[in-house]
Parts: sequence; C-alpha cells; structure tokens
Amino acid sequence: MGSHSSMNKKNLQLSLLKWYQRHQRRLPWRETDNPYDIWISEVMLQQTQVKTVLKYYPAFIKKFPDIKLLANAPLEEVLKSWELMGYYARARNLHRAAQVVTEKYQGKLPESYEKLRRLPGIGAYIAAAISSIAFDLPYPVLDGNVRRVMSRLFAIDTPTNLNEFHEKCERRLSQIFDRENPGNFNQAMMELGATICVPKMPVCSDCPVQKHCMAYAKGKQQAYPVKVQKKPVPEYQIALGVLLKKDRLLITRRKPEGLLGGLWELPGGKLHSNEMPPEACVREIKEEVNLEVELGEFLTRIKHAYTHFKIVVNVYSCKLRVGKIRLKGPVDYRWIKSSELDQYPFPAANHKIFRSLKTKLDFFKKF
Ligand code: SF4
Repeated sequence: MGSHSSMNKKNLQLSLLKWYQRHQRRLPWRETDNPYDIWISEVMLQQTQVKTVLKYYPAFIKKFPDIKLLANAPLEEVLKSWELMGYYARARNLHRAAQVVTEKYQGKLPESYEKLRRLPGIGAYIAAAISSIAFDLPYPVLDGNVRRVMSRLFAIDTPTNLNEFHEKCERRLSQIFDRENPGNFNQAMMELGATICVPKMPVCSDCPVQKHCMAYAKGKQQAYPVKVQKKPVPEYQIALGVLLKKDRLLITRRKPEGLLGGLWELPGGKLHSNEMPPEACVREIKEEVNLEVELGEFLTRIKHAYTHFKIVVNVYSCKLRVGKIRLKGPVDYRWIKSSELDQYPFPAANHKIFRSLKTKLDFFKKF
C-alpha cells in the first residue's frame, strides 16, 4: 500500500476497529442485522442528518415493518411518512424497489452487490453499505465522510470537484480496506468522519489513526479536502395564493415525476422576469387551475434552500372571482378543510408557510 507497509495497514485497521467498538454512537439501525432495516436507515441517512433520521426512522419501521408491507402500501402513505425529510425521490424509489424485491426475490433483499445495484434508488454507495453491513461482503463504502477522511489520511491534493479526486480516494481506500471485517470497517470510517475527522475542526487528539495521517504529519489537516470555489446558488422568487372558499382551501397536486413529484401544495409558481409577486400569483393561478382571483393581503414570505437552488416564497390571500377549475400543470386538486391538512403530504416549504400562517389565519391554527 504505497508508503505504508502491510504491518502498518493491519495496525491502522486494528486501531480503527478498536476505536469503533468502544466509541460508536448507539443508533437503532446498529442494533439490528435485518437487511431491510439497514437499507431504510442508509437511504434516510444519505441526505438527512442523523438527528432528523432518529426522529423518523423508528416510526417508519413500525409502520412498514417489512419489504412486502412497504411494497403493498399506497405511495401516498409512504410519502406521508417521509414528508419532512425531503428529497422525496428517495421514498418513491424505495417504494418501487420494495415492489421489485417482492416480485423478483420473494420479499428478501438479494445478497449480491450487483443485484442490489440494479434496484431503483440503490447507487454504488447504498449497495456497498448493505452488502458489507448486512451481508458481510467485501465492498468498501465511499461516502462524503469517508472521502474527507481519505483526503486527509493520504493528503490528497486533487480538488474534490475532479473525477481524479474520487478515483484517488477509491484507490487508497482499497489499499487500507479490511476485507475480513467489511461492515465494521466501513461503519468505523463513516463514524470517524462523522464524529472525529469532522469538516471544520478535526479532533486529531482523539483520532485512532492519527499516526497514519499524512495531513496531520504535515500539520495541515484543515487544508484537506481541497475545495474549489463554488458558483453561487441561484435564487428563485415564487408567489403562492391561499384561496379559501367558505371554510375550504384549494390545494393542487404536482405531477408524479420530478422534484417534489406527487406532493400537494398551494397553487402558484415562479415569477417571470420583470414580474412582481402579486401579478405572478394571479397569473399562475389562472394558468394552473383556470380560476380568476382577486388579490387580497400579503400574508407571509419564507425562504427555503434545496441542494442546487434557493427559493423565496411570497404568499397572498386570494378571493375567487370566476372560473371553473381546469388543470394545466397540476394533476389533481382538492378543496380541503382545516382538519384535513395533515392528511396530505406537502413539501417542507409549504409546512414553513403553514406554520407562519398559524397566527394569521384560523385555517392554519392547528398547524
Ligand atoms: Fe482526520 Fe486528524 Fe485523524 Fe488525520 S489525524 S484522520 S485529520 S482526525
């Protein structure tokens, strides 16, 4: 392994595993060897923080205790349980994958990296995690945490946006990977990145692999991973309307594919260039549902960040003037009562809006 001897490699593996056995956080998905539970936790953890996953994981497993039950549940229910974690494509893929596993593999996750990899939503990372943790197969996991640890351990000077960086991490990782304890080795590396070798201030004094770390030897742990300046994230202005007819609110449903696919929301949309939020609100409602509305008061403004862009949402109260609903864009609509709000899955940005309207409109007071 390059400048490391095989003695050194064994030593690194042992230090790491010993540290992991002693210091790992106790997390519910580490108390189980059920491949399904491990799969669900890995999918959740991929884009959501541990403390948030801790809130949703137990309820999800309770509601959908095995693959067949998940496969047979209506998508709506799965989305509802996923709601506040965001990145809903994960939940839709999970649901589809559960159906494939039920049909093709009698409801049991296949014990094969290649077969796992072919299931919807299972990429290289999750396939390696399930293979190693649930089935003890020798596949190294390379997630964001592990990449950061690798970049420091081996002082990798290539910037993280280049493919070469990824390849170097992979090559180095295969050199130190413990094929005899793949699941524990992978979890130990991820845990090291999550708790010790953290992005801003790595706690090198507590690090079990400190004496193997090239960045530490140079006194330059903070210089890795090498980043390049990112482009600024675009910000979009959105205008939405709270349209009440007696005690009922109009909500529309997004088409099943794409970002936030299948979720419900308030009608409205993105501002055109040179357009102000109030006119955009009226125009969007006309375009989406064919209703002519009169603009009422400005209700609230919230901000929300997605991975690749941010939105600023301006919310207005609207009054119905004329029109019969015809959908263009949304695939469904409902006039719902206040008590029905929690029966529909909404994107996180809509939840922010509802919370902010709690004190302003009776309709949202229970939110
Ligand atoms: Fe990370 Fe410091 Fe350990 Fe190196 S010594 S792996 S920089 S925590």
